[in-house]
Amino acid sequence: MIEKKRVFTFGNGKAEGKADMRNLLGGKGANLAEMNLIGVPVPAGFTITTEVCTEYNQLGKDKMVELLKKEVEEGIKKTEEVMNAKFGSKGEAFPLLVSVRSGARVSMPGMMNTVLNLGMNDDAVKILAEKSGNPRFSWDSYRRFIQMYGDVVMGVEAEKGEHDPFEVEMDKIKEAKGYQSDTDFTVEDLQNIVEQFKKVVKQRTGNEFPTNPWDQLWGAVCAVFDSWNTERAILYRQLENIPEEWGTAVNVQAMVYGNMGDSSATGVAFTRNAATGENLFNGEYLINAQGEDVVAGVRTPQQITIEGSKRWAEMQGISEQERAEKYPSLEEAMPEAYNELNQVQDKLEKHYLDMQDLEFTIQDNKLWMLQTRNGKRTAAAMVRIAMEMLEAGEIDEKTALLRQDPNKLDELLHPVFEEEAIKSAHVLTKGLPASPGAATGRIVFFADEAEEWAGKGEQVVLVRTETSPEDLRGMHAAEGILTARGGMTSHAAVVARGMGKCCVSGAGDVKIDYKKRTMTIKGVTLKEGDWLSINGSTGEVYNDKVETIAPELSGNFGKIMDLSEKYTRMYVRTNADTPHDAKIARDFGAKGIGLCRTEHMFFEGDRIWSIREMILANKEAGRKKALKKLLEMQRSDFEGILEAMDGFGVTIRLLDPPLHEFTPEGATAQTEMAEKLKVDVKEVREKVHSLHEFNPMLGHRGCRLGITYPEITEMQARAIMEAACNLKAKGLNPKPEIMIPLIGTAKEFQLQEEIIRRVAEEVQKEKNQKVDFLVGTMIEIPRAALTANEIAQHAEFFSFGTNDLTQMTFGYSRDDAGKFLPIYVKKGILKHDPFQVLEQTGVGQLVEMGCQKGRSVNANLKLGICGEHGGEPSSVEFCHRTGLDYVSCSPFRVPIARLAAAQANIR
Ligand code: PEP
Ligand code: MG
Repeated sequence: MIEKKRVFTFGNGKAEGKADMRNLLGGKGANLAEMNLIGVPVPAGFTITTEVCTEYNQLGKDKMVELLKKEVEEGIKKTEEVMNAKFGSKGEAFPLLVSVRSGARVSMPGMMNTVLNLGMNDDAVKILAEKSGNPRFSWDSYRRFIQMYGDVVMGVEAEKGEHDPFEVEMDKIKEAKGYQSDTDFTVEDLQNIVEQFKKVVKQRTGNEFPTNPWDQLWGAVCAVFDSWNTERAILYRQLENIPEEWGTAVNVQAMVYGNMGDSSATGVAFTRNAATGENLFNGEYLINAQGEDVVAGVRTPQQITIEGSKRWAEMQGISEQERAEKYPSLEEAMPEAYNELNQVQDKLEKHYLDMQDLEFTIQDNKLWMLQTRNGKRTAAAMVRIAMEMLEAGEIDEKTALLRQDPNKLDELLHPVFEEEAIKSAHVLTKGLPASPGAATGRIVFFADEAEEWAGKGEQVVLVRTETSPEDLRGMHAAEGILTARGGMTSHAAVVARGMGKCCVSGAGDVKIDYKKRTMTIKGVTLKEGDWLSINGSTGEVYNDKVETIAPELSGNFGKIMDLSEKYTRMYVRTNADTPHDAKIARDFGAKGIGLCRTEHMFFEGDRIWSIREMILANKEAGRKKALKKLLEMQRSDFEGILEAMDGFGVTIRLLDPPLHEFTPEGATAQTEMAEKLKVDVKEVREKVHSLHEFNPMLGHRGCRLGITYPEITEMQARAIMEAACNLKAKGLNPKPEIMIPLIGTAKEFQLQEEIIRRVAEEVQKEKNQKVDFLVGTMIEIPRAALTANEIAQHAEFFSFGTNDLTQMTFGYSRDDAGKFLPIYVKKGILKHDPFQVLEQTGVGQLVEMGCQKGRSVNANLKLGICGEHGGEPSSVEFCHRTGLDYVSCSPFRVPIARLAAAQANIR
């Protein structure tokens, strides 16, 4: 029997895996293999498959080690051969140290664990010192290893409000000796630190630090697998829709050293700009450092190219002379290694045909690539990179479209500062423009509190010295993030860009006192709760509330929309109740209105009084009088909205909500109503009481209102038709589609339809105009879907009201489900909140049935959706598959729906 292969080796231009094996090897592992195969220099190593992660979770550590032992030992042996080093060397060879890193199918930056310099112990440190001729480097590697392993594998970490216990030890020595930076430590200092670190581990965990490399290795492998199930990783998976069962791979790879002295360096780079999309190789590096130094924001990283370095200096207000002396680019400092890196980045982008995010290390002037992956990017960069690669002939139109993440487009619709407001705002300081957009909010210093405040409806800006993966929830809740330390590739910057959240990082002038909950910027002290504004596109920080507005859209965004138009089958309408919203949506490319909720018009200005008058009137005559006033108003509403969407269909829904929504609750308001309408307050009270319902959403609403009060339907039908005739007379082309809500039986539809058609006839005669109009219905009650063939004998169109359909299919109240849905999602009972993402198995089945049964009797039946799901990409894709003619969503989601509809048609 052939044993299942669990370990895949790579090195020296050979590999057992390749790029398309990312499901098994994870993204990192598959790309490490692929880089070997295309001749990019990569340190040797091996990948333990994602399947082992699942086995580990099921079988536990001992069983997993048993299954893996032979293959891992072989993997280490091969690595030793290629790298000419020995794992656990006692002096007979150069010690092999390895990195142990996670790597899921899709990248989850900073979410899971990494250990570097594994294999280090009291023997290895001495041999490495001797063989490298660089004891400082060797001891520095040792202290880093204890720090990382102590944290990641053994669980030594700072409590809230406490500083990192390892950093505390280092700071003590720095302070005592007056050092500025970590690079000032002498060999003796580092030896001292190693001893202190071991004590910290013993004190905090009760265990000795492990000295056997194999024990270290198995500990680290388990820690990586464990990190798949940390709270932060689970949250990240939820936010990014990553299935739990995917698991992570583990990559074990020979260490190469960026901290071997001044001819060594380490860095991260992007083949194009991840924030703007500009086609310019860029990145950051540090001389004499290891990878985590660049992302941790402990030292200020330098730029890779001269161009990038000059731009950076200008933004920081640093002179050219100072830049060239203190912060030279890699291109200047190590020209040979830079040239090779530049060639490699070009090769990798051309190979993968997408912007790459690279990690590299230079050991003694020799370049090694540690990682390549498709780089995370802002929406602006996503759009620009795809369009420029399309224009350069590197990818085709369909690929360019499929490269777009519809949900991400939302970021482009994110706010910028109001031009006038920003003029009077005062710039406190400038940091790096880490993630674009504008944010304004109250200052909070702790991530959990950002979440708490936001939960209470406060707008907050999270201010931290630097962020770590634990801060994820708080970052998500905040309007924006400001950090004092860290570069463009710091945790804060990378995560904020991924979230599409405004972020300014590395604002060195910001000094935070976590204890006092204050921050000081150039002498100005701000405390928790004060307003702060940040501009993630320029890096500017302002000490006030600055109003924000929505951005303009054009250029590459417009091109993506044009391409969407070319490849879509479904079209997109909007849900809008005012001419203003209709216009915004039309500018975004909406082709008509899929839902105009007429009741929203009743809340404007004084209108509420006419509807209250109608509600209070006990006789038909009284109601008609009040409805007459409403008719005037509704007619002008409809003229406005039909005009704004001239030439396109406008679906106007008849009154839907239960009447109690228009009556006041409190005694004072009821007295006011009685006075205003000149009736006894008792009468008002009684009316309010009589309208009270236990389940109003399942009560006297929708077409049930029009059936009990036909005069309401008459009034609305008249207002719609009069508006259309008036516009017709002006030479316009109004296309009203009158929609009856909450139909459950064909008979309900027929009764309402009769009224509408009769009134429409009357009005057209009176006005001597002919208007093309349709009469159709919402399908939002399960029975309507089940009997769609009966309803479709009369209705000219169906619009699926998936909000109510979800409510009634699940039996979850739309108003109250918030209490338990998050728990349902957390426990995995539901994959998503079904009010946000259409639940396809159950609710979707009813939609499919409604379509099939409807079209079986009326082949021309027009089909659409107007529930909230109409702007959610996976639901849009479902609607495409199901054969709907259009989806309808709120104006700002129109571009997202257009893109999702085109993608659905291409896939
Ligand atoms: C629906 O039920 O999906 C719908 C669009 O109508 P409303 O949300 O107004 O009930
Ligand atoms: Mg509804």
